[in-house]
Amino acid sequence: MKRKKYATKIKKIKLIISRLRTLFFPPVCPLCEEVLRGTETRICDLCRTKITYLTEPVCLRCGKEIDDTEKEYCDDCKNKPKSYIKGFPAMRYREPVRRSIVNFKYHNKKSYAKSFAYEIIKAHGKDIMKVSPEVLIPVPVHKSKLEKRGYNQAEVLARSIGAYLDIPVEGTVLKRTINTTPQKLLDNEERQKNLERAFITDKKQLQYKKVMLVDDIYTTGSTIEACTKALRAAGVKEVYYTSICIGKD
Ligand SMILES: [Zn+2]
Ligand SMILES: [Zn+2]
Repeated sequence: MKRKKYATKIKKIKLIISRLRTLFFPPVCPLCEEVLRGTETRICDLCRTKITYLTEPVCLRCGKEIDDTEKEYCDDCKNKPKSYIKGFPAMRYREPVRRSIVNFKYHNKKSYAKSFAYEIIKAHGKDIMKVSPEVLIPVPVHKSKLEKRGYNQAEVLARSIGAYLDIPVEGTVLKRTINTTPQKLLDNEERQKNLERAFITDKKQLQYKKVMLVDDIYTTGSTIEACTKALRAAGVKEVYYTSICIGKD
């Protein structure tokens, strides 16, 4: 009984803090940074009209839009088969979202995660619940990047999605051991191999069979593929992914 009372008290305090925060730091649209009006949810109405949401037909693997209704997979997934089962990206990687993701990633705009998580859930909440992953795993960044930025945007995003859908988040089972940024001198195959060596798992902690990776952007899919291989090697049977955006343009 005492514990219950304590929990209710904590809940009340949290609610008060969140209301105060809203009063002093009203939620802003992550795309234009204007304060949101009462009727607007997470992204302002004007910016919402500028977002390119994904429409059918989409690739059955990665979720990217394809122009031919006869095709099941995009050229990328056809030419380079993927080890994950299915991807759930929410929108195309274009302005004004592109600029907003840069701020989310590099300029401490962690609060944008809630808006992006909301968009992912609006587009794919049902799909994700149908998959019913045991855990969300953010694509990790290398320690040196983490020290520089102070946070991993994919983890912040995963925590927001997890809070909405009540799915736990594991931020430590998958690690990036090699900083793979300067890869310009390598060809595609070498780059992929290098990337695959970059991720390791904590097998003792990794007891899951069905997981969903979370990242901000999916471009060629090489990072998600490398993470999937590391997870599969550690015994995970099914890997899915979700992201805010997909595609180069
Ligand atoms: Zn806006
Ligand atoms: Zn595809």
